Amino acid sequence: MMILEGRKLNIEFNVIGSDPQAPASRIADKFYHNKDYKEFVDNCDIITPEFEHVDRRILEYAEKQGKLYPNTKSLDLKLERHREKIYLSDIGIPVADFYVAEDAASALTFSEKFEESIIKTSKGGYDGKGQFHKKKGDNPELPGDQFYVVEKFIPFDFEASIIVARTKDGRIFFNQPSYNYNQDGILLYNYAPCDDYGMREKASVLVEKLDYVGVMGIEFFIKDGKSIVNEFAPRVHNSGHHTLSGSTISQFEQHIRCVLDLPMHVPGLLAHSGIINILGREINDSLAVRILSIPGTLLYNYGKKPLPRRKVGHVNVTASSNEELLRRLLEVKRIIYPEEV
Ligand code: ATP
Ligand code: MG
Repeated sequence: MMILEGRKLNIEFNVIGSDPQAPASRIADKFYHNKDYKEFVDNCDIITPEFEHVDRRILEYAEKQGKLYPNTKSLDLKLERHREKIYLSDIGIPVADFYVAEDAASALTFSEKFEESIIKTSKGGYDGKGQFHKKKGDNPELPGDQFYVVEKFIPFDFEASIIVARTKDGRIFFNQPSYNYNQDGILLYNYAPCDDYGMREKASVLVEKLDYVGVMGIEFFIKDGKSIVNEFAPRVHNSGHHTLSGSTISQFEQHIRCVLDLPMHVPGLLAHSGIINILGREINDSLAVRILSIPGTLLYNYGKKPLPRRKVGHVNVTASSNEELLRRLLEVKRIIYPEEV
């Protein structure tokens, strides 16, 4: 989606990875295999990752050449959840009470300190993978000895997130925050705008401390009108896809403008706007046509194989109020997931 948005500005995109058939690889000007990372970096002016778990050699080589945005400091925190949690609490950002466990047995011991907890593997988790929701006294089987973060379960009123952008000279811009509805640890739908609940202030502290450049997505739990940070994503984020329809500038163009030092403007709200993810479904012609026939919807089909729970596309929906938007989102949800009605 970054490539699609950047084409408007006639920017050339090279992609590096392990799969020349991946969605971004197929629409890039040129694809490089990870092993050719030096040639890739040498041939680019600016390097920006769209996923944290990329080959380290690319990031280090790009940073040495002064081409990497955001910096490895911000990206490294995401390789191990416990480092992210410790960093956030060290800089004074409220997070759920947590313990860091160095093996499975101590993770279970720490979790007994909470009535209800979530045990998360420190490495490799996303879309709810590697997470174990546990009540005191339960004894779930954990996937072996490794680092874990044991978090207090937060009985939040709802989840929300914000897309923040920071420029090389330290100016900060926000897209409208959104209400997020997650199911089984994965975003199902969201919609904007949403009240602030202190999100902008916390986001500013985080991007400043990290000397961050580019767009960052930050997820929050909202309880009794207050926000606590769940996690951040050092890149464009699924919860910011609503900006493709609802904002005067999308998170993708915002990110491109930041890392390329192009003029920035404050994002304006064009419409009440949300998305619903298409998870693990085949987007066949019949489904596509039914979605496209609803006024105010746009379909993004990533062209991915529909593995269980995999994000294979999303639908943007707009309306003139959040109530109308939610109604339309649920209508699209019934089309995508008819068995869940
Ligand atoms: P992502 O794909 O967003 O990176 P992830 O797998 O890294 O997800 P989290 O965002 O940490 O995991 O958790 C996924 C979801 O699980 C959260 O959005 C929330 O719904 C639930 N969750 C996680 N931690 C807690 C908690 N401490 N209390 C209550 N719910 C939680
Ligand atoms: Mg998350």
